[in-house]
Amino acid sequence: MRSYYIPDSVLPQRYHFSRQDIEKAARDELRKVECLPKSPEPIDLEKYLFRQHDKLEPQSTERLATGVLGAADLANPLKPAIWISQAVFDGAPARYRSTLAHEIGHLVLHASLYIDEEFPRIVARCRGGTDLARGCQCGIDQIKEQPQAPLQSAHPLFHLEYQANLFMVAMLTPTPLVRTCVEPWTCTTTRRDGSRISSLEESARSEAVVLLAETLQVSRELAKYRLEELFPPSSAQTLSRKPNDRPAQSASGNFGVVSGKNQQTLW
Ligand SMILES: [Zn+2]
Repeated sequence: MRSYYIPDSVLPQRYHFSRQDIEKAARDELRKVECLPKSPEPIDLEKYLFRQHDKLEPQSTERLATGVLGAADLANPLKPAIWISQAVFDGAPARYRSTLAHEIGHLVLHASLYIDEEFPRIVARCRGGTDLARGCQCGIDQIKEQPQAPLQSAHPLFHLEYQANLFMVAMLTPTPLVRTCVEPWTCTTTRRDGSRISSLEESARSEAVVLLAETLQVSRELAKYRLEELFPPSSAQTLSRKPNDRPAQSASGNFGVVSGKNQQTLW
């Protein structure tokens, strides 16, 4: 991963990850401990944590502040903890999974920040207090199943939340699994310059959202976001194939051609 020093940032060192960096980080994390399935099925987040993070188990609690869904305790970056509110723990599986994946995103992407003694003090100042809590407490305003990039001038902590949300999406819906899941409705064409573009049959998009959500056990909101990311509606072609027809040339591998804006944005 790359890090960039931003002289005018309120953070001593602000980490910027491209979407591809985050995509790769999530995929690599799963692969390292053999938690990336070969065919579409829900990612086993608990198994990943157990194998990759020293048998870490997410803990349910009723002690989080009102409105907080989950928290990553990074006081000791080498021995982190993840807390999930009791209501989320007992609630809909998709919400539980997105909350847990978001907190894993903080753990993977941001634990190293807390090694710097200055960072918690700066975070406390950003929050308008003196609480040196080392970690992230995330509520409905932070965990977004359809992540929206904050403005460059936005509060620096918004950028950390945005990164955790992108990680959440990448970990819950790995690109190869998504492509396989909706393959009957996709088509890949090659442009004159040799680049390839994948498209999703527009008339089947709603059906594909439902199938993806149910297969990977995520919310329809998240599934819709992911499909629009991998198969932007603007580049979709109108196809006349029936859903069960196999396309002549299928999509495979990682990102196909995504919009230039998505590909280049750095945070
Ligand atoms: Zn968060």
